[in-house]
Amino acid sequence: MKNTNHPVSIYLHIPFCSKLCSYCDFNTYEGLDKLIPEYTNALVREIEIVSESSKDVGVFPIRSVYFGGGTPSLLPIHLIQKILKSVRRAFNLNINTEITIEANPDTVDRNYLTALHEQGVNRISIGVQSAQSEELRLLDRMHSFKDVVKVVHASRTAAFNNMNLDLIYGLPKQRIHHWEDTLHKAVELQPQHLSLYALTLEHGSPLRAQVTRGLLPTPESDLAADMYECASKILSKHGFIQYEISNWAHKSGEFACQHNLQYWKNLPYLAFGAGAHGWFNGCRYSNTRSPQLYIDRMKLIKPKSSTFPFSPAVSMNRKIDRKNEMNETLMMGLRLLEGVPRHSFQERFGVTIEHEYFATFERLATQGLITPDRDRVRLSKVGRLLGNRVFSEFV
Ligand code: SF4
Repeated sequence: MKNTNHPVSIYLHIPFCSKLCSYCDFNTYEGLDKLIPEYTNALVREIEIVSESSKDVGVFPIRSVYFGGGTPSLLPIHLIQKILKSVRRAFNLNINTEITIEANPDTVDRNYLTALHEQGVNRISIGVQSAQSEELRLLDRMHSFKDVVKVVHASRTAAFNNMNLDLIYGLPKQRIHHWEDTLHKAVELQPQHLSLYALTLEHGSPLRAQVTRGLLPTPESDLAADMYECASKILSKHGFIQYEISNWAHKSGEFACQHNLQYWKNLPYLAFGAGAHGWFNGCRYSNTRSPQLYIDRMKLIKPKSSTFPFSPAVSMNRKIDRKNEMNETLMMGLRLLEGVPRHSFQERFGVTIEHEYFATFERLATQGLITPDRDRVRLSKVGRLLGNRVFSEFV
C-alpha cells in the first residue's frame, strides 16, 4: 500500500514521569527529569533529520499530532513550544489538525493549560483513572479526584473544548458500585470523550507482583465484564456514543480521537522519541527505548544521512507483507464499532474480505462473535467482550 496518499499522523513520545504507577509498563522513567532539556533537543533534531530526508514531507497533510508518554505535561511550556515549532516547520499542519497532549492532574495548572492552548494544542487527555481515593492509592497515582476536578475546570477556562478522561476498571478489590460512582463523577465533569481501560496485570509491574504474592486478590474477569456492561449503559444514558471497544465520544460533536482512529484504521503515522513506534510505507519501525541512548544517537548523526522515515534512533524496522497488513487491518479495524467496511478493504487490497477470510468469518459468525452484513464486518456485542479471542485469529 502506498500510504503517503493518506493523511499522516505524528506521535511524539515523552518518557518521563514523576512517579511510576503500580500498573504501568509503558516506556517511561522516574527520576530522569534532568534529561528533559537535552531530550527535547534530541526530539527536535529527530524531527529535522526525518523531515530533511524526504522532499514529500511538506506535501502530505497531517491529521494529528499526539504528545504521549510518560507524562508530556511534565515538559515546561517553552519546551512544548519548541517541539511544536519544529513540527510546524517540518510538516504540513492545518487548522483541522488535532493536537493532543496527555496530562496528569498533578502536573498542570490554569496558566500552563492556557499557554498550551495558545500554542495550538486543541485536545487534552487527562489521566483520571478513578474517583476513589483507595483505588488511586492502589494504582500509585499522585493525584486526588479533587485535583482532577480542578484541572478539568481549568482546562475549560483555558478554552479546551475537546477533553478526554482516562478511567481504569477491573482492579483488585474494586466493587461495582465504586466503579459506577467513578463513572457518574466523570460524566458530571462533562468531558467530550472517555477512554475506559480494563486493567491488565503487566509482567514486571508492582501490582502484578502483589497479586502473585497473594497480597491482593486476582481481579475477577466476570466482574470486569459486568463493569464494562454497566459503563455502556451509564455512558449511553449521558449522551456518549461508543465508537471503539474502549472509547466513547459525546454525541454533541465530532469528538472521536482522530489520532487513535489513524491506528485503528491502520493508516500511516510517524514516530519520534525514545521507544516510539511508527508505520509508514509498509514498514513498522521503532526507536531505541533508552532516553539517554536516544539523546546520544541524535548527537552522532550527520545531516541528510537518513532514509525517510527512519532516523538514527531506529532500532527495529520490519517490512510488513500484504497478508500481514490485511491481518493487522482487520485486527485493528474490528476494534471500531463500525467495523471494517468491505469497500475500503477491497479498495486497499484489491480483493474482497470473503476471498481472504471466508472460513475464519464463518467460524467467528457461528460462535456469535462477529456480525458480517452487506457493507461491513463488525464485532457482535459478545465479540466486544471477547475481542482478544477474535483478534487472535488474525495474529
Ligand atoms: S503516569 Fe502514565 S505513563 Fe506515567 S507511570 Fe503512570 S500510567 Fe505510566
